[in-house]
Amino acid sequence: MSLHRVESFAAGRWIGPGADARTIADAATGAPIALTGDGNVDIAAMLDHARAVGGPALREMTFHDRARILKALAQHLTAHKDALYEVSYATGATRKDHAFDIDGGIGTTFVFASKGRREMPDQKVYLDGGPEQLSRDGSFIGQHVCVPLRGAAVQINAYNFPVWGMLEKFAPAFLAGMPSIVKPATATCYVTEAAVRLMLDSGLLPDGALQMVAGGLGDMLDRLGPQDVVGFTGSAATAAKLRGNRNLLDRGVRFTAEQDSLNASILGPDAVPGTPEFDLFVTEAVREMTTKAGQKCTAIRRIIVPEAQIDALTDAVRAKLDRIVTGDPRDDATRMGALVSEEQKTDVLDCVAALADETVRVTAPDMDRPGGLLAPILLRCDDPDAARAVHAREAFGPVSTVMPCRDMDHAIALANRGGGSLVASVITHDPAVARQATLGMAAWHGRLYFNDRDSMDQSTGHGAPMPHMIHGGPGRAGGGEELGGIRGVKHFMQRTAVQGSPTHIAAIAGRHFAGARTQEGPAHPFRRSFDALDIGETLETGSRTVTSDDIAHFAAFTGDTFYAHMDDAAAARNPFFPGRVAHGYLLLSFAAGLFVDPDEGPVLANTGLDALRFQKPVAPGTAIQVTLTVKAKTPRTDDYGEVRWDVTVTDDAGDTVATYELLTMVARDGATA
Ligand code: NAP
Repeated sequence: MSLHRVESFAAGRWIGPGADARTIADAATGAPIALTGDGNVDIAAMLDHARAVGGPALREMTFHDRARILKALAQHLTAHKDALYEVSYATGATRKDHAFDIDGGIGTTFVFASKGRREMPDQKVYLDGGPEQLSRDGSFIGQHVCVPLRGAAVQINAYNFPVWGMLEKFAPAFLAGMPSIVKPATATCYVTEAAVRLMLDSGLLPDGALQMVAGGLGDMLDRLGPQDVVGFTGSAATAAKLRGNRNLLDRGVRFTAEQDSLNASILGPDAVPGTPEFDLFVTEAVREMTTKAGQKCTAIRRIIVPEAQIDALTDAVRAKLDRIVTGDPRDDATRMGALVSEEQKTDVLDCVAALADETVRVTAPDMDRPGGLLAPILLRCDDPDAARAVHAREAFGPVSTVMPCRDMDHAIALANRGGGSLVASVITHDPAVARQATLGMAAWHGRLYFNDRDSMDQSTGHGAPMPHMIHGGPGRAGGGEELGGIRGVKHFMQRTAVQGSPTHIAAIAGRHFAGARTQEGPAHPFRRSFDALDIGETLETGSRTVTSDDIAHFAAFTGDTFYAHMDDAAAARNPFFPGRVAHGYLLLSFAAGLFVDPDEGPVLANTGLDALRFQKPVAPGTAIQVTLTVKAKTPRTDDYGEVRWDVTVTDDAGDTVATYELLTMVARDGATA
């Protein structure tokens, strides 16, 4: 059978492997399947292409434009995912494992697509936080803004997640507006290649937005500059080598590392045998050991159990592991597939041997099997305080070590001995234990996962990084951070402090700021379509006097007879009121009565209020007036978009009575509805 030739995609061309290409074998059978590496990839041309072609094309778009492409891309990958499943079996992954890598990667892309539309503006500049008032009168303000970096995002990935590993970096980089150069690990690069081909064949991506190197990166790191980013995922040893690259250090190139970690899971003191938490703990421990044959950076390597429970727990985990069928991932009976290669199996067994002085083996030794096939290995360490290697050596396979703890403080201390991890979990039904664990552990772990009978049906699993939450950890875990919703997008952007007048900041941001210039529109704003409305367009209403009868009527009608609205003397004894005052909600209602245009028109619905503040009480006899200004516009569909209005209610002394942001849905030009 001829071997598949894995190609690189560089500067718009597919380039095959060269004369010194490496052979890749099927994980389960050991049979050669593909050739990769050492093609004539022009590294300098790739970087030029990303910076000169991909970057400008991406920066022409808004965040929403790019989010829409990501959604279409995720849909395209979903439609073709069976093809990726087929290719992926050769990595040793079972059908269930595909859910983590392939479906997980597509799901992550969907989440960034959705968050991009919901949480980012339809603009080219992202505002990080709100404005800062830098002058007493508000005529000089500051605003942190984020813009895409102008270089290439070089993404070096580990072998265990050839699809998720690429997409969890590509999606936020793309949304930010940075072109990606993907370098998958050689062992599984044929799966990444298949995914990259699907993405390029979709025709959705602008030229230069995505390139891929199969094989070595050549001198790419030596060619990077301050606008480039390196995102690395892999072992601590490789991370240490790459982050020490002289050029990266000299030129201040951003370098993020996600590396291996000795993740721990703690059985809570309340989770004794017979409780749902005990069974849940056993299930999670076994799942973490066997999913992807334990080749997950987040897998549980250390199982920390109260002394009284260690025998019962060890027996329960071993009993479940004994029932795990290990074999070719294509066989229906197989519960756990293979390690990626025979060499990886050797690495794992070497590591287990290095732990032998500190541990005893609980599961029976495996028979000799071909390729990367290896049954799960449960170890037990009875003196975890004296042990060193179990807290330091990662056996990147189906290997975990059970160890006893005296109490929660001891459990926390042991978990923290990993020197920084991606995730630690505690299975407990006791919220006080969750709090104690968080205070004692959070500083050492990128993610804390608590689970119990109340959440277990819906929980996402100890080992699953969620795109909404950060992934990464301190110290040993690499000190990096990825994902975490829009936080993950900002890693590919420069945050800049911009200072100036509100009018300048409004023009930069594409939204109105208090104190910025405003202008009257040609008609009442409720008669103008979403597309016609301009940022800063303002309506000044007439005024209305709030009377005692209005207040009494509102109180009787709504049932809100709070004393401040009913009893002059009682209200005056309250430090906030001069005497009887109008209800805040009455003022909001009167404000709406002042600014709405009643007839059917483009304004479709009021969807809420944000940032409501009542600033000055309104006594009977006071006249109020409203200023309504278009603050921001966000398209939602082809038919309508959200208009956010700044609303300021003032009294006849010219003082501000209330401020808020009003949200409305407004029809677009040419809407079909
Ligand atoms: P690895 O050997 O460290 O390789 C990681 C990546 O670095 C691969 O793409 C590799 O390419 C590349 N690389 C190696 N030397 C390089 C060099 N001199 N210049 C440029 N690139 C270089 O790790 P792995 O064996 O693929 O993955 C397993 C490890 O990754 C485990 O330790 C696991 O814990 C960790 N991991 C961490 C996370 C996380 O998010 N924290 C996720 C998954 C895995 P080649 O394959 O071509 O050498």
